[in-house]
Parts: sequence; structure tokens; C-alpha cells
Amino acid sequence: MTSSSPIRVMTPEEIAVNAGARAAPVKVPEPGLFAGRAMRLRQLAEGHAMRDYLLFMAELSQAQHERFKRPDAVALPAEVLVNSAMVGGLPPLDVATFPRDAAWRDELRALLGAMGKSAIPDPARALVKQLGEADDDWLERQADALLAGGAPGLEPAAAPLIAAALQVHWARLVVRLQQRYDDSDQGEHVAPFGMIDDPTVCPCCGSRPVASITRIAAEQSGQRFLACALCGAQWHYVRIKCTHCQGTKGITFQSLIDADGKTSEAVAAECCETCGHYLKQVHMEKDLQVEPLADDLASLTLDLLVGEQGLVRQGFNPLLILGEPDAPPPDPGGH
Ligand SMILES: [Zn+2]
Ligand SMILES: [Zn+2]
Repeated sequence: MTSSSPIRVMTPEEIAVNAGARAAPVKVPEPGLFAGRAMRLRQLAEGHAMRDYLLFMAELSQAQHERFKRPDAVALPAEVLVNSAMVGGLPPLDVATFPRDAAWRDELRALLGAMGKSAIPDPARALVKQLGEADDDWLERQADALLAGGAPGLEPAAAPLIAAALQVHWARLVVRLQQRYDDSDQGEHVAPFGMIDDPTVCPCCGSRPVASITRIAAEQSGQRFLACALCGAQWHYVRIKCTHCQGTKGITFQSLIDADGKTSEAVAAECCETCGHYLKQVHMEKDLQVEPLADDLASLTLDLLVGEQGLVRQGFNPLLILGEPDAPPPDPGGH
């Protein structure tokens, strides 16, 4: 391998800063977040009973990637608000309190434009067209309902597209806020993202996790991170601990067994006897390509299995709002 970039020796201070960043308990979204998700969805679609659905989601993730890689600026919270959030142990870009900028609707219209040009089934095409004509008030109400975890009034068919736009917008907010900090004289500012008072929600945007991931990168080997359903950030959370009640007793793991009697090891449901909630966990050591949101979508049969035992899903996947009339209402106390 050759590289044309000159090698620059880091100062001891830079090395220390970098080491700190690597060991940080919060990982902001990576530039390849959506592209990696699209790739994983295509891989999981092969021979899958939900092949067409997963391929549609792959198309959507790819469109998200095309938007996310643009250098667009976005309105960030004032430094004083970021500092007061950190002091108060709150996420600085909390979906519940940070005013939602109209820019997210530009993301939506761009995504709809891209999806309209791609090879998608007719019903999806009709939906894309219909959403393109929706007025701002209706879209804002849908966004409110979605970010509240799928509140009443949410149009389930429209939810994945609206969620996709909100994901790009929030991932961009997180990355830009981190950039502003990295570019600043860091000694004078508080880092925008760190552990907050409630370890069960995203320290960047306050959303629930979609699933957790155990990583294998050298310095994080075996560590478990929760993956944000909205912005895609990941934050450290100890293993074998309920992500709902934070209890550590009576935790069990369940996996699917395929037709050949082989246990699917890459995805498991971490179930809590104490509160009756479960969250999926994906394991990089079993499959390097796992991606929390993609693997969650492709393992709905695992939800059915543990759901039959009366367990309640703690993971939030905004691309899949399950319209289950029998399901208990989402727990608003998760915030
Ligand atoms: Zn988040
Ligand atoms: Zn629990």
C-alpha cells in the first residue's frame, strides 16, 4: 500500500488526546454509518423471507448515505446550552427539548427524490409521491409522534421515510457539534458528549437504543455499546445488565435456532426477568459485519419468539413501527 500523504509525528499531547478519544465511552456516528447499514441490509436480504423489504431499506440507507456525506452546515446549539446540558447530565441535542430545525424536511424531500428515481415497488412509489405532497404541519406532527416512540396519529407506512430523514438530520447535528468542539481551543470548552445521568438513553440525542453491540476493535474488545436508534451514536454500557431497569439479576439470552438446528450466534435477545423487557445484542466476534439497526430489522422472528413469552421490546427502531394493537404502550419513562 502506498500513501502520498506525508507522515507527521504527533506530539505527546496529541497522542494523549487521541488515546482519550479512542477510549471515550461515546462514539459519535462514523461517516460510513448509513453506507455500512445499506451493505449489511443487502447481505441479510439474500435468501431472507423478507428479502424485498430489506432491499427497500438498503435503498433507503444508501440514499441516507448520499445525503449524510454532503458538507451541509446545520444550526447548532449555543455553547452555553451545550455546557448547561453537560453540567445537568443531559444530552445536548435531546429530541425532546432541542428545537427541531426545518432542515430535516429538506433531508426528507431529498430522500424522497432519490427514492422516486430508484427501482422500488409500486406501492412504495405511490407513498413516496404522496409524502412529497404532504404539508409541513402534517410532517411535523408525524415527526413528533415518531420521536415520541410511535405515538398515536403516526402513519405507520410513512414512518420509515420520515424516520430516515430525522436520522440523517440528527446524525449530522451530532457530527457537526463534535467537529465544532474538535476545532475549538479545547481547553476552554466542555466536550459536548459524555456519559449522562440516564445511561439507558443516547448521550447525544436522548433516544432509546435500537440494539446493543459487542465490539472487537483492539482497545474495545468485548466491550458492549448501545446503538442509538436515531443519530447512530454508540455509548458504553456494561454487559449483562438490563437496559430498561438497569438490574443485573435474572438476565438470560435467547437466540434463534435455524432449520438445521444451528443457533444463530450473531444476534441474541438479552432478557430481564425482573422487569420483563429485552434488547437485542449483536456480536462482532461472531460476525464482523453486524450492524445493530440492520440486524434488528432482519431478526423479527426473534421478536416473535421472545414476545410469545410475554417479554416487552425495549429496543426502538424508527424504521419499523410495529402497529401491534395488543402490545403494551411504549414506556414513556424510558426517557
Ligand atoms: Zn442519538
Ligand atoms: Zn429489567
